[in-house]
Amino acid sequence: LPEYAFIGRSNVGKSSLINMLTNRKSLAKTSGRPGKTQLINHFKINGNWFLVDLPGYGYARVSKKSKKTFQKYITNYFEQRRQLVCSFVLVDIRHKPQKIDMDFMEWLGENGIPFCIVFTKADKLKPVMIENNVSAYLEELLEGAWEEAPKYFITSSSKGIGREELLRFIDEINSGFFEENA
Ligand code: GDP
Repeated sequence: LPEYAFIGRSNVGKSSLINMLTNRKSLAKTSGRPGKTQLINHFKINGNWFLVDLPGYGYARVSKKSKKTFQKYITNYFEQRRQLVCSFVLVDIRHKPQKIDMDFMEWLGENGIPFCIVFTKADKLKPVMIENNVSAYLEELLEGAWEEAPKYFITSSSKGIGREELLRFIDEINSGFFEENA
């Protein structure tokens, strides 16, 4: 089955987004405490795709050793990704582009791993600021090695924003996937 990976810095709102997408309140545990999602979880959705919950990266308060372990899990996953169709890189809409996220996207690009950006917590910003921050990300990506801006989604798990759009996007890719593999 096709897989879609969700990844981002700790506390970016990944668990909340996964819960919003799956309509299950306690599927992925959320907490105010960063760094809680530790291992890779696969969730089967609608019987026809897997949502892959990857560990959060870049949490300052975990030890160097466990950071390395996380990184290993993440790289191993991407190296073995047989059915991975697209990765969703989550970034908090409130911040200007962060190096750790830009580096990660660059790494995905270098390794030929398709990704989209999912901006989280859109309810926390005024629309004009949302536009500013989204443009800042896209501009920075285009200044780098990118010829084309990645597809992006603006979401808020607390307000249910972006859910339909994301699910529709996944459904559309899945239709193509099943046709190809029929
Ligand atoms: P994770 O560590 O990436 O899985 O992040 P969580 O989903 O646990 O969320 C981290 C914190 O951000 C929690 O306090 C959430 O309540 C909060 N949060 C997550 N998504 C949203 C959102 O869309 N809007 C707002 N206002 N807060 C959010």
